[in-house]
Amino acid sequence: MDDLEVRLKDLSFPAVAGVGVLSLDVNVAIVRVDVRCTTAGASCPLCGTWSDRVHGSYLRFPADVPSGGSSVVLRLRVRRFTCPKASCVRRTFVEQIPWAAAGA
Ligand SMILES: [Zn+2]
Repeated sequence: MDDLEVRLKDLSFPAVAGVGVLSLDVNVAIVRVDVRCTTAGASCPLCGTWSDRVHGSYLRFPADVPSGGSSVVLRLRVRRFTCPKASCVRRTFVEQIPWAAAGA
């Protein structure tokens, strides 16, 4: 099992830029993968100012994907940033992850 885990971590979702694997839990019925964006920050959707000031984070579950008889459960760590622009009315915002938008 250790060999499988190492190989899966090495994959690091090569088709999805900016996503890294935090942890991986593999058993007979379920493969659970914890991922998060690897970018340092995000742009405020209102004023466009870049921020790397993390306000907090929470888990989202974008999809449960069956794979070879096992369920693959993605746990996506989504961060909330503080907008650094004093005049912006949007004090905090959640990073946008386009591939995870549907059904999340
Ligand atoms: Zn802003």
